[in-house]
Amino acid sequence: MKNHSFVPDIMFDRAFDITPDLLISKGIRAVVLDIDNTLVTYGVAEPTEEVLAWIGTLKEAGLGVAIASNNHAPRVELFNSKIGVFATCESKKPSARSVKAACGHFGVKPEEVAVIGDQIFTDVWCARNAGSLAILVKPIPYPENLFFKCKRVLEKPFIRAYRKKHTPKK
Ligand SMILES: [Mg+2]
Repeated sequence: MKNHSFVPDIMFDRAFDITPDLLISKGIRAVVLDIDNTLVTYGVAEPTEEVLAWIGTLKEAGLGVAIASNNHAPRVELFNSKIGVFATCESKKPSARSVKAACGHFGVKPEEVAVIGDQIFTDVWCARNAGSLAILVKPIPYPENLFFKCKRVLEKPFIRAYRKKHTPKK
């Protein structure tokens, strides 16, 4: 049955804490990564050493790595210039089209893909629309505007639900 929940499947503080072993143990063969506030903050144009190293470990483990951003082509192309992976810009997440494109590129099924991002109503929802694993990370801190602050408030119940589900009972 299709999962319609906004509650993420897995949560991490940082994308860089996600290991290839964990992904592979969940049957994942490719990842679709958000850029803004997941890998770097809005203001950072190029990947940091940490981003390059982490993506390197995923590739070495044989995982397909794709980037899917709702941001425009110049931002995505510049960011990807040092990484050189399959990328979609203006992905219109929560639309599943970036995941479908990655599936075609890597020859994997949607359920073998993990969508990794910082927003429930963009990245987790995209994973749900595609039928993929939804991994939510904490947004890399940046000065948030009012629009984002409102979205964070709306996300809270789903994050609480995740914590409740995954906190060991005493
Ligand atoms: Mg983001």
